[in-house]
Amino acid sequence: MVKVVVAGGGWSGCAAALSAAKAGAQVMMLERTDMLLGTGLVGGIYRNNGRFTAAEEAIAMGGGDLFVAMDANARHRGVNFPGHNHASFYDVSTMEPLVKKVLQHYGITIRMKTRIADIVKYGRKIQALVVDSGEVVDGDVFIDATGTSGPMGNCLKYGNGCAMCILRCPSFGPRVSITAKAQVKEIMGQKADGSYGAMSGSCKLNKDSLSGDLRQRLETEGVVVLSVPSNLARNSTLGKKACSQYAIAEYATNLVLIDTGHAKLMTSYFPLEDLRTIPGLENARYEDPYSGGVGNSVRYLGMAPCDNTLKVESLENLFCAGEKAAIIVGHTEAVITGLLAGNNAVRHCLDMKYLELPRALATGDFIAFAHDQMATKDGLRLRYTFSGSVYFERMKATLLYSTDRAEIGERVARTGLTDVYNRCLV
Ligand SMILES: Cc1cc2nc3c(=O)[nH]c(=O)nc-3n(C[C@H](O)[C@H](O)[C@H](O)COP(=O)(O)OP(=O)(O)OC[C@H]3O[C@@H](n4cnc5c(N)ncnc54)[C@H](O)[C@@H]3O)c2cc1C
Repeated sequence: MVKVVVAGGGWSGCAAALSAAKAGAQVMMLERTDMLLGTGLVGGIYRNNGRFTAAEEAIAMGGGDLFVAMDANARHRGVNFPGHNHASFYDVSTMEPLVKKVLQHYGITIRMKTRIADIVKYGRKIQALVVDSGEVVDGDVFIDATGTSGPMGNCLKYGNGCAMCILRCPSFGPRVSITAKAQVKEIMGQKADGSYGAMSGSCKLNKDSLSGDLRQRLETEGVVVLSVPSNLARNSTLGKKACSQYAIAEYATNLVLIDTGHAKLMTSYFPLEDLRTIPGLENARYEDPYSGGVGNSVRYLGMAPCDNTLKVESLENLFCAGEKAAIIVGHTEAVITGLLAGNNAVRHCLDMKYLELPRALATGDFIAFAHDQMATKDGLRLRYTFSGSVYFERMKATLLYSTDRAEIGERVARTGLTDVYNRCLV
């Protein structure tokens, strides 16, 4: 039996585990905290702009389980907000248990509160992962889905200090990269000014702390746009945001609130005393990060060098997914790379040719484009997402953006990849 070990249970790790299990492997996933989904626990926006196309391609390829779960758990669908169309918002407070059930249904062993601290390597091959307790977990092939958020030292060095985000480093221990432990030199993303890392682009307010009227509007419409008094408009923080799809002027002169269960506030941070001067927010209180008045998590400081099959360079049996695989932003982006990494991990054990998604698909073009760009100095200063910025512009220009399910299904069929993730390879 092929044994795949997935490091990290964010959206990319969950997708990788699912894809490997569907391809016939015995799968174990190790997650350092007590909840799956990582930064997806405080996200929620999907199907906006080109993410719709990417999700539908994954569904046509047989990797739709996690998108179906998001859709089943959506609080709002088909919402437009500045710069974004036809978005859905999943409920961040109920998403995690549902995903766990989906994975368990596929027989995946999920080990929570299990932080990988080291690896055992022989030559170019990883033999096992070593967890905090000293236990050694062996496998035939490994997937690094440990993300790029934090740990605290990075938030201190490249941000405004630990903002007490959902990754809860003080409680569960810092993120540890499998790639870095294997002594592969990681890639560091940069901000527009050339400094390293990028700050996460949204925080969450407790909905009970909003005025009754504001809360009701938010729950009815899904989105509320509040204008920011000119003395508080903060154009200067835009280049630092991880989510370049929101680094547009409308987000500096307005506060955009989104109903994801919490009231998601589309800005990296906002001083609480200033926030409370805005009508409806007089009693506002941060839910994530707890110190959203002063900062947010810092990301993109450790990407694995890999090719478009997501195999990590210089190692025989390590694949990567999600933010680890490129400077990419988003749940959808994490899921589509996770699906590919999980499938290729199984192919590796069976000596099969690795799958590389063709550039005729938005998902294939996205992975290849992000990797091409990351080889350039300027490309390292951008983040890539189907939902905005340079890649969404490219999607439109190359006619890869579509909201027509039938057309997307036909496109996938033309590449011969319909249901590829539903095939048992073992
Ligand atoms: C505040 C915020 C809001 C966001 N909002 C949205 C949104 O609305 N829509 C959207 O599409 N995207 C959003 N994003 C971006 C999106 O969440 C991420 O790009 C994507 O989910 C990353 O997934 P990942 O699996 O690569 O990494 P992560 O989500 O970082 O998951 C990595 C996981 O690995 C675990 N891990 C790390 N090290 C170890 C170890 N040594 N051993 C075991 N486990 C380990 C971590 O605990 C974590 O669970 C948001 C991000 C943030 C921070």
